[in-house]
Amino acid sequence: MEVFQVSSLLFVILKNRDMKTKDNGKKDSKIIDCKYIFVVGGVISGVGKGVTASSIARILSDRGRRVTAIKIDPYINIDAGTMNPTEHGEVFVLDDGDETDQDMGNYERFLNINLSRTNYMTTGRVYQSVIEKERNLEYEGKCVEVVPHIPLEVIRRIEKARDEANANVVIIEIGGTVGEYQNMLFLEAARMMRIKHQKSVFFVMVSYLPIPSKVGEMKTKPTQYAVRTLNASGIQPDIIIARSKVALDDKRKEKLSMFCNIPADHVISAPDMDSIYDIPVNFEKEGLGDMICDTVGMTCGVGDNEGSRKWKKFAQSTHIKNKEVKIAIIGKYFNTGDFTLSDSYLSVIEAIKYSAYSSGSKPILTWISSMDFEKDPKKLKELSKYDGIIVPGGFGSRGIEGILKAIEYARKNKIPYFGLCYGMQLLVIEYARNVLKLKDANTREVNPNAKDIVIDVMEDQKAKIENKKLGGSMRLGSYDAHLKKGTIANIAYKASIISERHRHRYEVNNDYRERLEKQGLVFSGVSPDGKLCEIAELPQDKHPFFLGTQFHPEFKARPLSPHPLFTAFIKACVKNKK
Ligand code: GLN
Repeated sequence: MEVFQVSSLLFVILKNRDMKTKDNGKKDSKIIDCKYIFVVGGVISGVGKGVTASSIARILSDRGRRVTAIKIDPYINIDAGTMNPTEHGEVFVLDDGDETDQDMGNYERFLNINLSRTNYMTTGRVYQSVIEKERNLEYEGKCVEVVPHIPLEVIRRIEKARDEANANVVIIEIGGTVGEYQNMLFLEAARMMRIKHQKSVFFVMVSYLPIPSKVGEMKTKPTQYAVRTLNASGIQPDIIIARSKVALDDKRKEKLSMFCNIPADHVISAPDMDSIYDIPVNFEKEGLGDMICDTVGMTCGVGDNEGSRKWKKFAQSTHIKNKEVKIAIIGKYFNTGDFTLSDSYLSVIEAIKYSAYSSGSKPILTWISSMDFEKDPKKLKELSKYDGIIVPGGFGSRGIEGILKAIEYARKNKIPYFGLCYGMQLLVIEYARNVLKLKDANTREVNPNAKDIVIDVMEDQKAKIENKKLGGSMRLGSYDAHLKKGTIANIAYKASIISERHRHRYEVNNDYRERLEKQGLVFSGVSPDGKLCEIAELPQDKHPFFLGTQFHPEFKARPLSPHPLFTAFIKACVKNKK
């Protein structure tokens, strides 16, 4: 009874807010048209909620809906930029410079769209807005409370993202699993959304069904409990995506149907797959697309369409069995186990894959800790086994000398080398040390007392570092670069102006530019004012592929449009095949 009363009251508040906006302008048809699909997790984390949300987004977009996606992270952190990637996964940078969760990368890749900071929220971000509004007297003298003001701010942000994208489907992934204290206010926002937008709100629970080895049978009980916990938040899932090692049988579907109050055909079997790109294809096979469209009352195109066929073709290309191309990825902390690693460099890995698949090769990635080369330089020889070498982005001094040795080896032995951000800065340091004979060359980040600071702190970063204004303050997001005619970069991009995403505080010191160029290094990409070096490379008659970018090209690689620089690198690797 009490719940009902609170709900009715909220309904009036929310509807009144709506009326206000409607009074001020014309009737907002988007509110009526749009469907909101919340994706929540049950039982355990790490079962692919992000990929599930992305896959649902993909199939609905292929069926002709205008889809946008939102990730909600329950952290207090304002953004993911201050979190350790080996613990929390990659920091994915958007065009507008927002430092977000790796799931945002999945959305962009699956949907082939660019998202903005409106599509990402954290607990910290939501509270910060509410507190700022309170300080600006925007609550008109009211007592500002956790409920309803925090959920209302969440709803405002969801609607803003909808309007920015002019979307008629918004997918909202709530981080964490149900039952956690951290995401309770977001579930409350989702519940309130349903009061406001009625039948347009839809809940998907991604759950996990374990098969205990001694029992040998797939168990539904944890999912039943998870649904009950979700029910306690006033939410009933419309669909359960049942993740498990193998496909669900009918018995399991019926059980979940019976005890979780949903029709059996709303239980979607989602067994482990070799490639995450098969998931949208499997979802359509399981009838998910039709079922969502029917349940929320959307007019959708058919499941077999131009977009889905293109996707299917790409998904099939990921199963290539032969024509291996062996890539070594060299970095500092690669001894933490594969799981963490693949998460901290997710976009790099995916970018390599897209370019490899599109050139008909199967990428084999090996993680090499640069410290190995510091301990035992003889180990460098092992690099000759690989068709190409990548040094991804990074920070700090650990393992740097080992990486420099590896870059020198790649340059001298003509192994294709691709440096991303720090990987480009280190390429320049290696060149300065070994070609310009500036033995002490370094970056200020590693040794501020070095004689030759060839990589220096950016002018506008100095005060930020001094005042410890370090959150969200790097050079972030998309900037244009102009490419030099006839260079590897220019030929790969087939363009003279490009736009790429950045995340750094240091840059090539212009005092050394002329000397480096005189000795053969080409700055093939520079900022429009010519002041910042964005790409460094060696001409192709000197080396098959020796190139580094100050930006992170991996953030713009997409399954259906592989990144031109990664593709050029892979082609060089294939040519160099051992
Ligand atoms: N540490 C370097 C800088 O801040 C490189 C950063 C990176 O690789 N993202 O400039």
